[in-house]
Amino acid sequence: MDYQKILDTIYEEMSYRDVKGKVASYIPELAKVDRRKFGMHVYCGDQQHFCFGDSDEKFSIQSISKVFTLAMAMRIMGEHLWDRVSVEPSGDPFNSLTQLEYEHGIPRNPFINAGALVISDILVDQLDDPKKELLEFVRKITGDNSIDYDESVAKSEKATGYRNIALVNYIKALGNIKCDVEPIVDFYFYQCSLAMSCQQLSKAFMIFANRGKILDSGEKILKPKTVKRINALMQTCGFYDEAGEFSFQVGLPGKSGVGGGIVAIHPANYSVAVWSPILNEKGNSELGMKALERFTTLTGVSVF
Ligand code: GLN
Repeated sequence: MDYQKILDTIYEEMSYRDVKGKVASYIPELAKVDRRKFGMHVYCGDQQHFCFGDSDEKFSIQSISKVFTLAMAMRIMGEHLWDRVSVEPSGDPFNSLTQLEYEHGIPRNPFINAGALVISDILVDQLDDPKKELLEFVRKITGDNSIDYDESVAKSEKATGYRNIALVNYIKALGNIKCDVEPIVDFYFYQCSLAMSCQQLSKAFMIFANRGKILDSGEKILKPKTVKRINALMQTCGFYDEAGEFSFQVGLPGKSGVGGGIVAIHPANYSVAVWSPILNEKGNSELGMKALERFTTLTGVSVF
């Protein structure tokens, strides 16, 4: 497969001018990002990789970080994790509070904010220094020590994070949060502020394409069963109330973030990351989704 040719075709065909959405502004720091940015990177199992555009520029990965924290929580809790978080698509926006009341504080899945905040609670409870351990985890799977948090994004989100703070309080009132609210949201805002490029993200996500093995070293960091569960959740819940549309258009397990990044994988084959900060109404990258639709159409390969 000539991935570079396919990426070049996508880069020629597509432009930020073709999409009408807006860059996220509810986190003030994210509104400063240049809407013209567009990059894509593909990693294959044989370490070959291909790219275009701004694929080496770091951006705020936001909710994509929920996949890393889920992997860490599964390593600690195993199957007991599912007593605290469910595994069904929510069909609701990522920051919704509504289902929690009648579902007794058990979030629908780990990729909506409610679920990610319960995962945060687990990591804050179980780890001495969760921020440090998350950073170590991401640096290890990429072999890249330049990856770090973006303090200004974390602070910006903290200053405006009323819904997330409300979610933790609400879940705590319903009995599914153990720690204090402050350290949980602090960790959550930092995890969302992780700054990574398409190159780094696609490399990191090779652990999910590669049955839990780190691309460079071959070291097994996750059990195949864990990877199977995470990929299933990315397929069914990775795009909030647009998970069906992403499956329909692209046909790969993946995860988006309001920084405009999307990462998707094809098991045993490749990992692909795309970044364009212009979001559609559901909070997913508009150009990113279109580019991935073209990618699976031009390669003729998807999980379906
Ligand atoms: N930090 C963002 C929030 O909690 C993450 C949301 C997202 O990327 N969908 O609102």
